[in-house]
Amino acid sequence: MYKIGIDLGGTNIAVGIVNENCQIIAKDSTPTKADRPYDEIVNDICLVVKRVLDNNGISLDEVSSIGFGSPGILDNEKGTVTDNSNIHWENYPIKEKIQKQINKPVYMGNDANVAAWAEYLGGAGRGSKNMIMLTLGTGIGGGIIIEGKLITGSHNIGAEIGHSLLVADGEQCGCGNKGCIEAYCSATALIKFAKRNLKDNPDSSLAKKEHINAKTVIDAAKAGDRYASEIFDDYTTNLARFLGSLINFLDPDIIVLGGGVANAGEFLLEPLRKKTPAYTVFPQLTNTNIVKAALGNDAGIIGAALLGE
Ligand SMILES: [Zn+2]
Repeated sequence: MYKIGIDLGGTNIAVGIVNENCQIIAKDSTPTKADRPYDEIVNDICLVVKRVLDNNGISLDEVSSIGFGSPGILDNEKGTVTDNSNIHWENYPIKEKIQKQINKPVYMGNDANVAAWAEYLGGAGRGSKNMIMLTLGTGIGGGIIIEGKLITGSHNIGAEIGHSLLVADGEQCGCGNKGCIEAYCSATALIKFAKRNLKDNPDSSLAKKEHINAKTVIDAAKAGDRYASEIFDDYTTNLARFLGSLINFLDPDIIVLGGGVANAGEFLLEPLRKKTPAYTVFPQLTNTNIVKAALGNDAGIIGAALLGE
């Protein structure tokens, strides 16, 4: 049997057919055009699901379930998108709307949680027992799996790991609070710190760049640029502090890092593995594996599909 995964973003609706080995065998997409009425978006979702099946000669009888992932707060039990500011949805009964057009069990989850679920079942966390995933992108998304269960909390708003406090009265965070880990360790934060004192460091290779993104900063640090190296060293120290807290809190056997910054690979992981034990209570017992996510952008589709597991 196959499962369908739907990854609804602010820009694109991506749909994939996932096989029993947690692999995407075919995918298709269409623009979200987020400002239109939601019934139109749902019609397009169902259209793409049917189209990808048709184009690959797979009938609905061979599909066991449909999974739906999107940013925001999703209530799998009620079948509603409680809140999604990207596409202006509030208490929208997505499960019922999809089932009206495609009569299959529908499961749903927040995109960050869904990505973690994908890594747990079919990616870097495969075979682990307790896993935490952090997505180091525009913000910091999180997912927590304990003993095979995706933890989303009492109101489906748990696992917002990015808004854990790192520094009292620290950097302003997008959530309105100050000092969240997201304001220190998202890709956005890395860029912010790199730009902040750049004019006082005219000898840095970054000073000559017209556009600075996370990769620019990381590449400059890799090349030995002193200023970029200091920024990245602070970055990994802050992240290691936080990973230490996560280990003290949940004792995971693996922490999976995704998102743009994680593309730095070992250049990020190696300092984290070295620094993190200093922030744990039982460093002699801390052998949490810190690894890079394996599924990239496909995690959204795969994780959504596997919500039916
Ligand atoms: Zn915050």
